[in-house]
This record gives sequence, C-alpha cells and structure tokens, in this order.
Amino acid sequence: MSYFWMLVFSAAGACLGSFLNVVADRLPQGKSIVSPPSHCESCHRRLSASDNIPIISYLRLRGRCRYCGAAIPQRIFWVEIGTAVLFALLFWKYGFSYHLPVMMTYGSILIVLTVTDLEHGILPNRIVYSAIAIAFAVALIAHFLRPGGLPDLKSAAIGGAIAFFFLFIPAIISRGMGWGDVKLAAFIGLATGFPLVLLALFLSIISGGLVAAVLLLLKIKGRKDAIPFGPFLSLGTLVALLWGNDILAWSGFA
Ligand SMILES: [Zn+2]
Repeated sequence: MSYFWMLVFSAAGACLGSFLNVVADRLPQGKSIVSPPSHCESCHRRLSASDNIPIISYLRLRGRCRYCGAAIPQRIFWVEIGTAVLFALLFWKYGFSYHLPVMMTYGSILIVLTVTDLEHGILPNRIVYSAIAIAFAVALIAHFLRPGGLPDLKSAAIGGAIAFFFLFIPAIISRGMGWGDVKLAAFIGLATGFPLVLLALFLSIISGGLVAAVLLLLKIKGRKDAIPFGPFLSLGTLVALLWGNDILAWSGFA
C-alpha cells in the first residue's frame, strides 16, 4: 500500500516539478506564472498536452522541441525527476501527517530557489518572503496544535535567529554572501528550528566548501568567481529535514 502511495506522490511531484520549472523561469523575469500556457521558448509554439507530460515528454522528444528542434534545457527534466524523488521520500518518511504538506511546500520552495540561484544568481524576494511567512505560520500552528516533530514558536525563533546572524555577519564583512542568502537562512532556521538548524548550516557549509574546492582545483571557477550558496543551503536543509533527527541521534548530539 505504501509503495502505491509513494508512486502516487512521485507522480504528483513530477507534475509539480513541471510547474516549479515555469515559476523558476518566469518569476526572475517578472512574467506571469499562469499565462501564457507552456510553449517552446524558441519558436513560441504552444505545447500539446501529450508534449507536456512531466519526465516522459522530455525523454520521448529526446530533449528537443517537436516543431523547431531547439534544445529543451536539461534542467526541466532534472527538476521534474528531483521533485518526484523528493515527494516519494517525503511520503515514505512522513506518511499521511501534518508534516507531509508542510515538507512538500518547503521542498518546492527550496527547489525553485536552487534553480533561480544557479541560473540567475538571485533568490527572488517574493519567494523568500512568502517562505518566511509560511514557516512562521507553521510554527504558530505547531505551537498551539502540537502535532509533534514540527518546530514550535520558540524552536523556530531560535533557529531563525541563529541562521540569520550566522550569514548576516559574513554578508556585512564580505561580498561573497548576498542578502538573498541571509533572508533564505532566516527561512531555513524557522523551518528546521533548533537544534536542526545547526545541522542544516553545517551540511550547507561542508557541501558548499567541497564543491567550491573541486571547482577551483579543476579551474572551472577562479578565486574571484561567485559560487552561489543558495543551492547548498537548500540541500543542507532538505537533508536536515529528512534525516536530521536520525543524524543527530546517531552522532550523539540529541
Ligand atoms: Zn520550438
């Protein structure tokens, strides 16, 4: 039964991933996310329903527009796959619970921000501020309903403050960290709460540092190139949300 639902949630994730692609494409350009309907970015022909099936259409069309042959960005495919896998994992972890819709929302937000940061170097305020408001509302609800496992107001506030100041200080003394990262950190702290926020930050720094070192060693990036930190913050947070309590228990911290 649970495999059936994992499949259902991964299909839902693939469809939502398709929408997240649209959001990540259009929001940084200030375009509407609802109209016009899906079209080829190159020849502007509208996609038929059968060419708009998440994951499957990309594979069947071999990553090219049916009409003009222009390449469809591979990212479209990876976001659809990634959201599908994430939703299956979230269902496997949380089942039908208060957590599931909350974690699906957080995961979707982090995926969109990863794409906009990688492709445009920005974390749009509209998404980050909405995310902060959602995480605050979740903490408020958790405070009164006590569903267990979700950070309550105190835990979220401490987490938000720690993450905010942790990135605020490097942001004022160097140009490596952007204000978008600082605001994203505030969301991450609210969403994970204390002490999970420490793990989320730790994982972000370790993964970001490792990737930056590899990029520098392979000379793909130079010392002066900015390497976006948003994707690593997102990755660290997703891992902390999914397995954080297990990791903390295993490492003897909690
Ligand atoms: Zn086309």
